[in-house]
Amino acid sequence: MTNPTTVPGYLRPGQPQGGQTPLALLVPCRPCGRWHWHGAGTMEGPYYKPGDLTHRSAHCRRLAGSYEWIHVQAEPFDPRWMRNHRRVLSAVTEAYPWPA
Ligand SMILES: [Zn+2]
Repeated sequence: MTNPTTVPGYLRPGQPQGGQTPLALLVPCRPCGRWHWHGAGTMEGPYYKPGDLTHRSAHCRRLAGSYEWIHVQAEPFDPRWMRNHRRVLSAVTEAYPWPA
């Protein structure tokens, strides 16, 4: 891949701890068929806001078609987009509308 691929990213708050709520940026990875998680700071101090374009390497960057740029979406992450299996964590479900 010579051109970096841009994918959407969705912010998702985690379990509050120590007075802060961690934030994750969830990114649908087409080659993997799963959600990759990137740290996104906390609700109190988020790294990103909707509309941001951020450069993050996919965890699977040896695979062709994996992303390098993430466009942070205003729409919150919907738990129905993710399904956890015994061996395949964070699978992308049919409920998620992949971008064209
Ligand atoms: Zn991947």
